[in-house]
Amino acid sequence: MNADTGYEVVIGLEVHAQLLTKTKLFCGDTIVFGQPPNTQVSAISLAHPGTLPKLNREAIRLAITLGLATHSEIVQQNYFARKNYFYPDLPKGYQISQHTTPICKGGYVEITVGSEKRTVRLNRIHIEEDAGKSVHEGETAYTQLDFNRAGTPLLEIVTEPDLRSSEEAAAYVTTLRKLVRHLGVCDGNMEEGSLRCDVNISVRPKGEPKLGTKVEIKNLNSIRYIRKAIESESAALIAKHKRGETILQQTKGLDDSTFTTYVIRTKEDEDDYRYFPEPDLPPFIVTNEQIEAIRQSMPPLQSEIKNNLLQEHKLSEYDASQLSEDIELATYFLQVANETANAKAAANWVIGPVKNYLAENDLSIDTIPVRPETIARLIQLIDESVITYGIASQKIFPHLLNNPEADVRQYIQEQGLQVQSGNEIDTLIDASLTKHAEKITAYKKGKKGLLSLFVGEVMKLSKGKANAEEVTRKILEKLN
Ligand code: ADP
Ligand code: MG
Repeated sequence: MNADTGYEVVIGLEVHAQLLTKTKLFCGDTIVFGQPPNTQVSAISLAHPGTLPKLNREAIRLAITLGLATHSEIVQQNYFARKNYFYPDLPKGYQISQHTTPICKGGYVEITVGSEKRTVRLNRIHIEEDAGKSVHEGETAYTQLDFNRAGTPLLEIVTEPDLRSSEEAAAYVTTLRKLVRHLGVCDGNMEEGSLRCDVNISVRPKGEPKLGTKVEIKNLNSIRYIRKAIESESAALIAKHKRGETILQQTKGLDDSTFTTYVIRTKEDEDDYRYFPEPDLPPFIVTNEQIEAIRQSMPPLQSEIKNNLLQEHKLSEYDASQLSEDIELATYFLQVANETANAKAAANWVIGPVKNYLAENDLSIDTIPVRPETIARLIQLIDESVITYGIASQKIFPHLLNNPEADVRQYIQEQGLQVQSGNEIDTLIDASLTKHAEKITAYKKGKKGLLSLFVGEVMKLSKGKANAEEVTRKILEKLN
């Protein structure tokens, strides 16, 4: 992207993350995805007259958990506010949200784009309830309403306008998704809408200090859509700017067949929502003791994981940062390391074949079919010289990806993948030295680099099944 290098694209993201509470934010209705319409609704979700909200404490705990993990300030004196607007799927006619006291202020998320590290500042994280869903399906010409989602607790996580490209935005959402999953705050399931993103985007000529007028693209529920929305809207905004057209502050949607954006409305101001403190809920106070208790019970954070990798598992600085950069990869590593004493090999496997497989197939680690114990088993077989690393990573691992339940030993037997040793290797070494007979004199005269040619030939003949160290040692014995 950034096809026009005379411009800078500026992006701020608002991510809505559905909290992993059992029940709704202000009543005991359950939250289970995919239930028949209007089966998870009580009089409270439907806003019948006389019903009153009651705060779900677990939602507060989860919000603070994310705030601590993102280095935010936890606001201790809080109140909820009504955000008033009409929508058919909003039965109360207002949404209970937070206004001047978001539960978390400031903070940041660190991302890696390519090999570059960037810090994305957060503006705030606040708690709010979700609306229901308008459904336009089936034979009927009417809009149908499903209130199952109404009142579901959400966190809105708002960045400062710190992102500069679709790659950075994608890296941020990916990192945030991994973080909320790791913390147990949200399941991060974008297809089910548990994590959705509004993209705010503006352009300005390079060097211009003032931000341009922003356009907001609502409700993107995949990383791909986020990228597409940014790419298409930034190109459109740059073109407009070049033609000297006024850019209007608009709210848009992404057409997911053409990947172009369409206008929903020309932006309302905050005043339009007539925010005021929710009279049916008392203000709530978060104490220092509560914050400390949450801090103590949290899963380890990135920096703690990195220290653990360095100190407990004695990994190199490089391996430790490669792993801790990706909290899911680090967790997978810890599971492998739990099953083997060879932490270095575990790190090589996770940073190598495992990570490559995920990257090539654009997958996240929860979908990898090969269990950590199985990786540990491969490491053991390599350490016992039953198989070589080359065979394990290039033959057995791909087989396991397709047949995760396969019996590794049996597969090795069937395919004859054992390390070749003893007589077998001697035969191959003889073949290699015969083939390169004329090079042996050169080697003996001092061209020591030729050793790798002899070894390489044996490895080729053995189809990777010989142990390179053993081969090297034996060739040296023969030549000397
Ligand atoms: P609004 O009041 O319209 O909701 P906010 O100030 O709350 O705007 O910002 C919403 C999001 O838009 C934030 O993520 C912020 O970083 C981003 N944002 C604000 N101004 C710009 C801009 N000019 N260009 C790009 N993003 C912006
Ligand atoms: Mg806003």
